[in-house]
Amino acid sequence: MPITTADVLACLRKMADVIHENKEYLTELDSAIGDADHGINMDRGFQSVLKKLPSVEDKDAGTILKTAGMALVSSVGGAGGPLYGTAFMQAGMAVAGKYELEAEDILAALEAALKGVVMRGKANLGDKTMVDAITPAVAAMREALRNGAGTAEALEQATAAAEKGMKDTIPMLAKKGRASYLGERSIGHQDPGATSSYLLIRTIAEIAREKE
Ligand code: ADP
Ligand code: MG
Repeated sequence: MPITTADVLACLRKMADVIHENKEYLTELDSAIGDADHGINMDRGFQSVLKKLPSVEDKDAGTILKTAGMALVSSVGGAGGPLYGTAFMQAGMAVAGKYELEAEDILAALEAALKGVVMRGKANLGDKTMVDAITPAVAAMREALRNGAGTAEALEQATAAAEKGMKDTIPMLAKKGRASYLGERSIGHQDPGATSSYLLIRTIAEIAREKE
């Protein structure tokens, strides 16, 4: 069964819940290597996304995701807002005009989101950012689909890869964002943005699993 626009809306609402539940955790991670605002930023951003959803309830998936991205860009300060905003806007562009999403559409949206983050933030793999969680997730989903997995299964493999990518940021030396100001002292801490990316990807997988 394809993912409908109702599922996309449900997914964004669930993302807002998950971010809200993890607000303190994300902020705590950011207090170790940043300025202790990642959870606050993300929560503010997703609360603003929630407010915009009623106005796009009858629109295509692309418009819904682009609207979410614009809400994130305009409500979240710091690096995270523009980066996630770009990710959602690019994801929306990849599925423009569609009311039903197949596994390949979701992969295309995730690929576009990653491309957007990289284009905007210029982080490389291993720089200790959200890119370190999203890159392996996209690769795992692509591989799973190539091996014949269904949407939920492929997204669950993406989630597992994102979780590993998130944990792999712990020993990394930060080369981008505020954490890079710490130099060697950034080593030994999990990146907050990689953590929020994992949580968001996990939420997409949960929505897909509920469908099956
Ligand atoms: P700020 O660092 O401005 O306070 P946040 O705390 O909301 O913004 O977000 C910090 C997260 O943003 C980091 O944990 C990292 O994952 C991500 N990040 C920072 N700079 C970049 C970048 N250039 N490319 C990709 N991700 C980045
Ligand atoms: Mg911060």
